[in-house]
Amino acid sequence: MKENEIRSFDDLYKDVIDTGICSKCGGCVSVCSANMIGALKLDENGFPTYTDKELCLACGLCYMICPHTHTVREEVKSRFDWKAPIGHYDDVISARATDPDVVEVATDGGVVTSLLIHMLEAGHIDGAVVSTSLDGYTRQAIVATSREEILQAAGSHFGELPHLEEVGEKYANYVSVVKFTCKDNPQKLKKLAVVGTPCQITSIRNMQALAIVPSDIITFTIGLFCMQCFEMGNLMDKEFIKSRRIDPGEIATMNIKEDFILTLKSGLKVHIPMKEIEEIARPACLKCNYFANDYADISVGGLGSPEKHTTVMIRTIRGRLMMADALAKKSIKLRESRTADEHRVYRHGMISLIEEYAARKVDRARKYADTDGSR
Ligand SMILES: Cc1cc2nc3c(=O)[nH]c(=O)nc-3n(C[C@H](O)[C@H](O)[C@H](O)COP(=O)(O)OP(=O)(O)OC[C@H]3O[C@@H](n4cnc5c(N)ncnc54)[C@H](O)[C@@H]3O)c2cc1C
Ligand code: SF4
Ligand code: SF4
Ligand code: SF4
Repeated sequence: MKENEIRSFDDLYKDVIDTGICSKCGGCVSVCSANMIGALKLDENGFPTYTDKELCLACGLCYMICPHTHTVREEVKSRFDWKAPIGHYDDVISARATDPDVVEVATDGGVVTSLLIHMLEAGHIDGAVVSTSLDGYTRQAIVATSREEILQAAGSHFGELPHLEEVGEKYANYVSVVKFTCKDNPQKLKKLAVVGTPCQITSIRNMQALAIVPSDIITFTIGLFCMQCFEMGNLMDKEFIKSRRIDPGEIATMNIKEDFILTLKSGLKVHIPMKEIEEIARPACLKCNYFANDYADISVGGLGSPEKHTTVMIRTIRGRLMMADALAKKSIKLRESRTADEHRVYRHGMISLIEEYAARKVDRARKYADTDGSR
């Protein structure tokens, strides 16, 4: 195929889905539906498929916006002034929410939840695409338009364990937040924030580089650091859990920072090294080299921050403005440091860790996908 030739969904299928690198972000379905073509849908396993092949116009949009085809990579890199190894950033801080209701339910410091509530109440956004918990083990993307809905979506708390045989592929910690379309936005909201993994935010940035709907209404992106996602069926795999003497029903929350942390209902924390959770990763995630969410307005993770704090990379002017506003209104508070030197040490530590984990991910993708790891 020639360099400038338009690729259709058949090519996307061959290059991404067939090769096992589709991360189920839903971006291809979203553009095809939002542009009123409707040739695609997600199948019961979350992979894109034709609704009706006859509807396909072979316009190539689905191929171009896919985060794994890299068709518009150079354009996006240039828009975000990308630099190796973790993209452009103005600052890296460690912070936490001040609202006790947020602290209680958040994964780390609750910066994401606090910032979203702050932006909503200040009128900076009309709503936020977040991933809300349904039955404790399943999450679903929603457009949250109230403080309560944003709070409900915070953290990763488990409910009662369903029967192990029910904890199959459909229970995953990955949620396709990009699959929303104009149809999912009946209120015609014009300013949406999106919280997503790097593959999802890249899909949105690819759409924006091409100026195609529905990306025009996304005015703020919060990118999660992401080592990997997994299907709960694998996590609950008898060997994986039993060899660590954990009762699955005792798991209260889970988190990924320097390693994978299961907090039990007793309060005990079980730390599992990152290398060991490769066995439960989604195969596509092992071939992925996105980590620090290089194109988000702010990128967030627990990595490098103490308990109950979020590490925040401020990447864009908009990211800087929103964070400054939330700090000024005291929705968010910086990690305390006694001296300027101590602050510098914390900052340096966070940046080193983010670079280290980004490099680890590139190496892992090289190993599993046999790529040169370039981003
Ligand atoms: C799949 C996944 C992998 C991650 N991997 C890492 C990692 O390797 N290293 C690291 O340091 N941090 C990682 N994180 C980020 C970390 O777990 C926290 O989400 C982050 O530090 C923000 O904490 P917070 O307390 O500020 O967020 P909170 O205030 O608790 O808010 C979290 C927000 O994330 C949204 N959310 C939850 N799950 C998903 C999902 N699957 N897809 C999209 N949005 C979601 C929620 O709706 C909520 O709005 C990962 C997060 C996820 C979801
Ligand atoms: S119409 Fe365009 S976006 Fe939709 S499936 Fe065909 S090539 Fe992809
Ligand atoms: S756009 Fe997303 S869902 Fe579609 S093929 Fe690419 S990774 Fe998969
Ligand atoms: S590792 Fe994270 S960014 Fe990469 S495909 Fe999986 S969910 Fe997406």
